[in-house]
Amino acid sequence: MRSFRRVLSYLRPYRAPLAGSIICTVFFTLFSGLMVWMLMPTLETLFNTDTISSFTSVAPSTVESGGEFSPGEEEPQATLTGLERVKVRMKDATRALITRPDPRDTLIRLCLVYLLVVVLKNMFAYLQGYLMAVAENGLIKDLRVDLFDKMSRLSLGFFELNRTGVLLARVTSDVTMVNRSAAAVLVEFVKHPLSVLVFLGMAVVINLQLTLISLLILPISFWIITRIGRSLFRRTGRLQTEMGNITAILSETLGGIRVVKAFDMEEFETRRFAAAAGAYYRKALRLARIGKMAAPSSEVAATIVGIGILYLGGISILGGTTSLTPDEFITFLLVIFSMFHPIREIGKAYGKLQQGLAAAERVFDIIDTPPVIVDAPDARPITEFSGTVAFRNLSFEYVPGSTVLSGIDLSLRKGEIVALVGPSGAGKSTLADMLPRFYDPVDGAVEIDGVDIRHYTISSIRRLIGVVTQDTILFNESVARNIAYGLDDFAIEAVQKAARAANAHTFVESLPEGYETLVGDRGVRLSGGQRQRLAIARAIMKNPPILILDEATSSLDTESEMLVQEAIEHLMRERTTLVIAHRLSTVQKADLIVVLDEGRITQQGTHEELMTDEEGLYRRLYTLQFQT
Ligand code: ATP
Repeated sequence: MRSFRRVLSYLRPYRAPLAGSIICTVFFTLFSGLMVWMLMPTLETLFNTDTISSFTSVAPSTVESGGEFSPGEEEPQATLTGLERVKVRMKDATRALITRPDPRDTLIRLCLVYLLVVVLKNMFAYLQGYLMAVAENGLIKDLRVDLFDKMSRLSLGFFELNRTGVLLARVTSDVTMVNRSAAAVLVEFVKHPLSVLVFLGMAVVINLQLTLISLLILPISFWIITRIGRSLFRRTGRLQTEMGNITAILSETLGGIRVVKAFDMEEFETRRFAAAAGAYYRKALRLARIGKMAAPSSEVAATIVGIGILYLGGISILGGTTSLTPDEFITFLLVIFSMFHPIREIGKAYGKLQQGLAAAERVFDIIDTPPVIVDAPDARPITEFSGTVAFRNLSFEYVPGSTVLSGIDLSLRKGEIVALVGPSGAGKSTLADMLPRFYDPVDGAVEIDGVDIRHYTISSIRRLIGVVTQDTILFNESVARNIAYGLDDFAIEAVQKAARAANAHTFVESLPEGYETLVGDRGVRLSGGQRQRLAIARAIMKNPPILILDEATSSLDTESEMLVQEAIEHLMRERTTLVIAHRLSTVQKADLIVVLDEGRITQQGTHEELMTDEEGLYRRLYTLQFQT
């Protein structure tokens, strides 16, 4: 219920179209009822003209002159029950509208009224649908944006625990499902019960006895429909999970399509995808087994009701024990049948509501996940960095009990280049991630100018820091926008200057549309070296005083390598740099080399100092890794 109220809160901005839609629904339902009701005068006109006059006290002259029609207070009505009196009044009113002395004129009027009713009914149907779409799509948009906003603010740890494909499914299909529970259901819960009421009212007016008999049988079909609805709900939930698996595999494969191809794994990935698609297929069939039963079984149930009414009503007409006229009887049958559709829809709406609420819970779960890394209540912005960045006795673990970094003590003075080296898995990237607060230490602290960075706002710290990672992430935007990423306002000259400093200007100029060229998803239309240089230009453009650089390990050709290297040197100039070093030139140039092994600092010093320790890890690493 709480989720439902929350979903409704997303509809608040769309109150007006929603209310309009509900009002249109009411009119639509009334006109639908009228359409069925009109069957009576139609049958009368075509087959039983005598009845018309016997029911009315219309003086031909009154009709001809088009004057007000007033049902006569004549004898037959005096003995009528209340309901029958209502019926006679309603029929009289209908006749007053339609009946003319000449049956041909009546027929023409009947056709015109039908036309008017059907046009009005469908006009309201259209308006209802359109206004509903305004509210529904508004809800979907707002909820999606909210979800995306909350998701993008969550800490990195969250994304390590949740598969991308599953998150994609949340934003796409789950949000659409949530919509079902709210907007559509709101209208459906008005429309269908109202239809049932209108038809039920008409049935009661036509014949109370037969209506009561129908009501005895109706609950059976209602029971069948709601049972099927509930079962459908459970199964659709499972189907949704399978869909999550499909999107997960899809996004993994598309994201890593190069690797898939390089390893000739297309067939393997297709098998993996086929297995997920097969699981979906089986669940969908199970769903269909129940779902497809709904329509035929409810039709059988409805027909049984109809046959029952036909038999009982027919017997009383044949036996002359009822005042029911043939046109009333046929209209009554039609009214009862018209009730089945809305009843079935109420059952379905109930199922949709359940499905939607389940999806809403999945969506709200993410919206409600608190980010682990947040600003302290008294956090203040940091505007400049003037002295040192320091890691103080810092320890960290991703999973409780399995230490990744321990007792790290390290200082970077302003303007220095500090190189982190060590075997794979030693904790170099993790240590670098501590600085922009991608993770918080379990013990100890990171300090800027002697102040624990947790006293500062996260966004102000991140403004001071530039990060250039191994895998350069570019967005499918223009080159200029990629370089100026994060800046609302930028001069193209500044972008060009950064590109020049990053050795990227020449190749950008040669692209078909220069700085306005789109780079493709993740920059696929560029070479590895070009992507790296753009990432470097981006960091130069941001111009942060502190730089974290994870040097690319993948080797480029000599010329490209030289261009990238030069760009990096430009980038590091006059900045304080923590570099995860994979290159000989970088380690040799570093003011301090820090050797990490199994999460601890085992050696630190300059290249020359560390090389003197013959047993040291650095010397071994250097010989293995750098001296090629
Ligand atoms: P490389 O040079 O190979 O990139 P690294 O020195 O940068 O390695 P880290 O990536 O910092 O090493 O990883 C340090 C340790 O932490 C490794 O044992 C790794 O398995 C573990 N680790 C890294 N990221 C996570 C994570 N998100 N969750 C759990 N463990 C992790």
